[in-house]
Amino acid sequence: MRNRTAAGGGTRKDNLWAFLQCAHSLLFLCQDGQQESCSAVLQMASDLQIAVRTVTVEELKNELGSAKIGTRLYVCGDYQFVRGLENVLFSFGITNEELWSDVTGATVHPVLCAGCYHRNDPVAGSYIHCEMCGRMLEVSNHYSKKLDAVMGYIVLPEQLVFKSEEPQPSRTTPEGR
Ligand SMILES: [Zn+2]
Repeated sequence: MRNRTAAGGGTRKDNLWAFLQCAHSLLFLCQDGQQESCSAVLQMASDLQIAVRTVTVEELKNELGSAKIGTRLYVCGDYQFVRGLENVLFSFGITNEELWSDVTGATVHPVLCAGCYHRNDPVAGSYIHCEMCGRMLEVSNHYSKKLDAVMGYIVLPEQLVFKSEEPQPSRTTPEGR
């Protein structure tokens, strides 16, 4: 008789396997250009003979109303994409147990400080301190193709008090991968 791995234990691959094993079907949503990072997931789903359906963001929202029990969701993309999508999904009542999200680090852009125009190294978080002027910046999703950077807007101290009361992202972070 084999012991089952406790939830949260084991490697990430084991956890993904356990996640997929509970699925009857999988709704698969991957940001454009990120497909390579999902091949392992697709292979695993195929090994488990799970019906995989690739959907767009709009299709996914429609599906949620009629999703059957046993449907699992997989989303993959950069930080902003996944975080935005998770907010939508959780507002539809999707739980952590039903959703697997992979954040890819490769497309996180440098952050341009709105105060001193210093290019800060790519980060995955929502707030950073500018390396040059030390101001607190909110990392926006305003991406400039020309500058290949996103704008980091200065957070005023009074806003910071307010912001710090918001729950901070904690579930999936690209660090440590
Ligand atoms: Zn700065």
